[in-house]
Amino acid sequence: MNTRRLEGIGMTSLRTRERLVNRLIEQGIQRIDVLETMRTTPRHLFIDEALSHRAYEDVALPIGFNQTISQPYIVARMTETILNAAPEEARILEIGTGCGYQTAILAQHVKHVYSIERIRPLLEKTRSRLLDLKIRNVSLHCGDGNKGWPRHAPFDCIITTAAASEVPQALLDQLQEGGVLVIPVGGREFQELKLYRKEKDKISDETLESVRFVPLLGGVEN
Ligand code: SAH
Repeated sequence: MNTRRLEGIGMTSLRTRERLVNRLIEQGIQRIDVLETMRTTPRHLFIDEALSHRAYEDVALPIGFNQTISQPYIVARMTETILNAAPEEARILEIGTGCGYQTAILAQHVKHVYSIERIRPLLEKTRSRLLDLKIRNVSLHCGDGNKGWPRHAPFDCIITTAAASEVPQALLDQLQEGGVLVIPVGGREFQELKLYRKEKDKISDETLESVRFVPLLGGVEN
């Protein structure tokens, strides 16, 4: 990929990104490593070119297929939560790859990200985007994330970027001892970001904040 496209110009330039990072700091994001990744990851390359002038606003944006790219603050918050709990060289399962922005941010901090998306054409677009960006420690799979990815389980941490009405049992089952699951839980109107922790085979939970995600659906769309 050419450097100019990667670095961006005007509304996608590093200066514009600095403003976003300052906003994230104001909103309470503390980890320097996460702020640095948010600054250097070209969010404008994860969305349609027609919207790229809005890439560094702290808002969710449409990516087609009725889906959205998550708001940067939420991506930073979920990443920070995961990294605070993850061991060195962590293996992470992500449900809801979408355009791959959260995947790309996480992949820069952990050993490997296994990511599942149910909409095949969206996943294939994301696959070539991550290759273009030379992000290689990611395995993508088209499937129903409610079932997790048993072949690669257990995972140190699991992150779901679509809202579940109830926490899928398979995800709790595929969590390593001491591992955490970060997941938005609720209906269309009201959701809470929850943190579940597995310790001595018991599950404890904590509520982080109110959020709004697209719903976690079942099955696959080809
Ligand atoms: N992580 C993305 C946001 C994705 S939006 C980002 O960084 O911006 C949520 C995604 O979850 C959508 O692409 C949607 O298709 C997907 N999704 C919803 N239910 C799913 C399921 N059961 N399994 C896998 N993916 C699912």
